[in-house]
Amino acid sequence: MRQDTPAPAVTVADLSDAAPSAFAHVPLVSPGFVNGAPSFTTHEAMADFVAGLARASCTARLSSLGRSQLRRDIPVLYLTREGLADPEAIAALGRPVIWLMAQQHGNEHAGGEAMLVLAAALATGALAPLLEQLSIVIVPRINPDGAAVDQRVLASGNDLNRDHLLLSQDESRALHAAMRRLPPDVVFDHHEFSVARRWVEKFGGSHSLDVMILEATHPGVPRSLTDIARRLYRPVLEATLERHGLSSHDYVTTAADKSDLLVSLGGNAPGIARNAFGLRGSVSYLIETRGVGLGLARYQNRVATHYVLAKALLEASAGEGPALRAAVRAARREAAADRSPLVVSHELARRPLELPLVDPDSGEARPTPVTLADSRLLATVEQRERPHGYLVLRGGAAVAQLLALLQVRTVTLNKPARLAVQAYDIERLGRPSRRAGEAINPDRSLNVTLRAMTIEVPAGALYVPMNQPACGIVAAALEPDSPGSYLAVGVIPMADDEAEAPVYRVMEESPAIQALLPSSSGEVSP
Ligand SMILES: [Zn+2]
Repeated sequence: MRQDTPAPAVTVADLSDAAPSAFAHVPLVSPGFVNGAPSFTTHEAMADFVAGLARASCTARLSSLGRSQLRRDIPVLYLTREGLADPEAIAALGRPVIWLMAQQHGNEHAGGEAMLVLAAALATGALAPLLEQLSIVIVPRINPDGAAVDQRVLASGNDLNRDHLLLSQDESRALHAAMRRLPPDVVFDHHEFSVARRWVEKFGGSHSLDVMILEATHPGVPRSLTDIARRLYRPVLEATLERHGLSSHDYVTTAADKSDLLVSLGGNAPGIARNAFGLRGSVSYLIETRGVGLGLARYQNRVATHYVLAKALLEASAGEGPALRAAVRAARREAAADRSPLVVSHELARRPLELPLVDPDSGEARPTPVTLADSRLLATVEQRERPHGYLVLRGGAAVAQLLALLQVRTVTLNKPARLAVQAYDIERLGRPSRRAGEAINPDRSLNVTLRAMTIEVPAGALYVPMNQPACGIVAAALEPDSPGSYLAVGVIPMADDEAEAPVYRVMEESPAIQALLPSSSGEVSP
């Protein structure tokens, strides 16, 4: 380390309210711990710290995802053995590409701070050898505006973690544009969950769990990617949690509505980052510590928890080495070749669960029986034959632009064609219902009936083929009755008195379209 590397190492044990000895040897080399007492890291201190790391290291390169809505820079660190800064050159190295990100929700500070600790350990410290096997990308604070005022949402008031299909916000577009240049094989998304609030209001108890975790659960996520999450990463997470004496559960949440006593495993909306990363062809894991509402209490333990979990996940990834990349690529090829029916709507199985809540005042255990909607136990309500692709006859330019950011390949018809298709007759279920604080995460708002017909397709029409790895994104965006579909949210405009959607399913291989398509390799192309 050169002299301009920030911050001496402080370990959890050095700090005042540190408790578990399991963390005694976790060095917290980051701005939040330089003065002995922990503090939240300001935007300026974070920017200085990552710049210092890049100066002091020959492997870390600092870049920017772009600017937030209030014009704050969103730093990204690229870490490779070669010290490459160019995303395409990093992709060409052929090592597994692991993205780690934090603070989509600005008031969930511990994950972001842990990303700084992790970046320092990779750039100039003990974890540097992992770069022999992996290319690592770290986005420590993707919502700097929210972090600056300690709020969950973006400056616009929208929840960034519901916008990964619609991409209506500067921050989500910036992230996916960077991911398009350097497609992740694996993404770890770090958050903190609320300790009390809804839990006390509804069930009279606070959360006592240290950690909650969950892989992607949307039914369109390629099965083999989910298998990698469960087979490779879940046992690593569980072993690390156990070694540090941390309690954990699959990520559960509950609605803001006080009368709704249902507890749900993290949802299946395609716009949630955890699901969107899976749908675009990456292994995806959510990692949450108990933190929202705790201020700086137990802060070093929360940061150390994110750090040890991320470290263990990276070590497991490095242990797989080239096999990890090969497995992800095979999963993408399989997704591109999949001809099984699409699950368009589903219900979640419900089962009883005892939540380990505690009394908010005394801290005494208060195990609470609840009903859990389990997003991993799906009962198919409606499935639909998988089309070869979709024709979009209105709003095509906007659709192509959004889908391109999400790793989807589209083509434009260069001459008119007469095609047999399935049309959608639309029935509106009222205005898209909008949940409080989640205005960009509408529920399902359209019903459809399919009708076979033949249409004249003009030159210039957009065609979106399904024989590609991100076909799950395509179906989530273009099946009109998928929640938050591009038709439902108005990316594809449609008048209230129209019945037939300007989107059609192409059910048979058509020479007019085949001539336009490059042969499918199953690769994610930039
Ligand atoms: Zn969060």
